[in-house]
Amino acid sequence: MRKRLLVLLRFSVVSCLLLFSLQGATGKRDASGAPSRPKLVVMIVIDQFRPDYLERFRPYFVARGFNLLLSGANFVNCRYDCAITVTGPGHATLFTGAYPNVHGIVENGWYDRSLGRAVHCVEDPAAKLVDTAEGPAQQRGPSPRNLLGSTLGDELRFASDFQSKVISIGLKDQAAILPGGHTANAAYWYQSGTGRFVTSTYYVAALPDWVAKFNQQSPAKDYCGKAWEALAETPGAAGKVFTRFRPGPSETCPDANFLGWLNGTPYMTDIELKFAREAIRNERLGQGPATDLLTISLSVNDYIGHESGPYSPELADLTIRTDRYLADFFSDLDRMVGLDNVWITLSADHGVAPTPQFVKEHQLGLGSFQAGSIATAVQQALSQAFGEEQWLRSVSLPYIYLNQAALQKRQVPAEKAEAEAASAAAAVPGVGAAFTRTQLLTGSTGESPLARKAANSFHRQRSGDVFLILDPYAVPVGSETETTHGSPWNYDAQVPMLLWGSAFKPGVYAVPCQAIDLVATLAVALGLNQPSGAQGQPLASALKEQ
Ligand SMILES: [Zn+2]
Repeated sequence: MRKRLLVLLRFSVVSCLLLFSLQGATGKRDASGAPSRPKLVVMIVIDQFRPDYLERFRPYFVARGFNLLLSGANFVNCRYDCAITVTGPGHATLFTGAYPNVHGIVENGWYDRSLGRAVHCVEDPAAKLVDTAEGPAQQRGPSPRNLLGSTLGDELRFASDFQSKVISIGLKDQAAILPGGHTANAAYWYQSGTGRFVTSTYYVAALPDWVAKFNQQSPAKDYCGKAWEALAETPGAAGKVFTRFRPGPSETCPDANFLGWLNGTPYMTDIELKFAREAIRNERLGQGPATDLLTISLSVNDYIGHESGPYSPELADLTIRTDRYLADFFSDLDRMVGLDNVWITLSADHGVAPTPQFVKEHQLGLGSFQAGSIATAVQQALSQAFGEEQWLRSVSLPYIYLNQAALQKRQVPAEKAEAEAASAAAAVPGVGAAFTRTQLLTGSTGESPLARKAANSFHRQRSGDVFLILDPYAVPVGSETETTHGSPWNYDAQVPMLLWGSAFKPGVYAVPCQAIDLVATLAVALGLNQPSGAQGQPLASALKEQ
C-alpha cells in the first residue's frame, strides 16, 4: 500500500511537472498566469571576445547576426571580478554564476598536490574518450567531475524531472564540458588532429549515429583548396590573403596537416555551427515537453586572437565573418524552432591584451614578460633564507606552488616561506602584486580591488601558495606579435553580455554587470533555482514584468 501510494505520488509530481513544462514550452501564459518559457535557450560564448569588437566592427555587421542580439538587452559594462581570465574558469563562471573560489576551476590546469603533477581542469581518470559509433577509445576522456556545484543546465534538468535536454558544444573539451554541468545529456568537442567531434563515456557509451555520420562526411573537406582571404568589406584588409594551405606533393586533403591549418581559420566556426544545427535537428532540441538548453562555445576566435592580437586585420575579418555565420545560424534556428520560441544569450570567457609590439609602440607598459625569471628569483631567495633545497614544485602563472616536503625538512613555517617567495616574486619587473595563500585564506590582504579579485579566484585545495598579478600590459608571451590573456585588467576581464528573447527588455544598459549575473538572470526568467553556488545578481532592469 505504502509502495502504491509512493508510486501514485511520484506519478502526480511528474504529471504536475510535465504539465508545468508543457505549458511553459508553448510560449504562452497558463490559466494561473505563470510566465511563458521558451522552447529552447541557446547560450553562445565566444572564446576571447572583447566588447569593443561589437562597437568597432558594427558598421560592417549584417542585419540579423550580432545586430539581432544587440537589439535585445545589451549590458555594456560587464566584467569578471576575478584575477584569472582564461577559458576553463571563464566558462565555469558563466554557467555556475560563481567564481573559481566556489566552482573550483581555478585555471585550465593546476598542480595537484596529492598527485604530484599538473592536471587538466576536465581531466577524469574514470572516463574514456568516445570518438566512434563503435564505442570508446582507449584514450582517457574528460568529464565535468572537477567542477564543484551545479550549472544552469543542471537546474533546468532537475526542475523538469530531467525532461529538458542539455547539449553543449565547443572546439575545446573544457569549453564544451563545463557549460553543460554534471547532468548534461552530452557534450561534444572537436579533435583537431582527426577532424572529428567526440565525447566522453561520462555521457554516452558510443557516438550517436548523427555525430558519427557528421564525422564521416568530413566537414573539413569543404575547405580543401581554400585560402583565408579577407572579405571585401573588412577594414584595412579587403581581399588580402591571410593564410593559404600548401600541401606537399603526396598530400591529400583533408590530412592532419590540412586540419592543423584549418584550425587557425574562421572556417572552424562555420563547421562548429553546422554541427550545432545537426544537434538541434537530431536531438530535436526545442521540440520536447520542456525547455531545452544548447550551449555553443566558439573557440577559434581564441586561437586566431592569440596569433594576431585585438587590433589586427585578421581579428577584424574574423569578427565580421563570425557575424555572417551567426546570421545564417539564427536564420536556420528560426526555420527549425522558430525564434519566437527561443532565447539567445552571448558572452565571452575572457578578453585579450594587445600584442607586446602594440604595447611598446604606444608606451603602455612592459610588453612581453618572461615568466621564467620568477622561478629563478624565488628559488634563489628561499635558498638564501632557508638553505639549499629544491623549493619549488611548480611555477605557472598566476601560481607558485612550494615544495612542502622541503619546508618540512627544514622546518620552515609555510607562512614564512610564502611571504619570502611573494616578496622575491614581487621584485621581478612586471609583477604588480603577490598575495600569499595565508593572506588570501585569512583575509589579511587588506582591502583592495586586486586582493578581492585574487580571493575570488583562489580555491584552498587547488590554488598555489603565492598568487601573482602582473602589471597592466605585462604580457606573458615569448613573441612580440602574439598575445594572451589571464589578468584581472579590463582588456582581459571585460566581456559582452547580450540577452535576446521574449523575457528581456531591449536597451543598452550601463549598470554594473558581472559574468556571474548571466545565469542568475536566466534562472529567474526560467523560474529555476539558482545554481548551487551562484553569487550573481539577476540583471533585473532587463527583465520584463511577468
Ligand atoms: Zn586563449
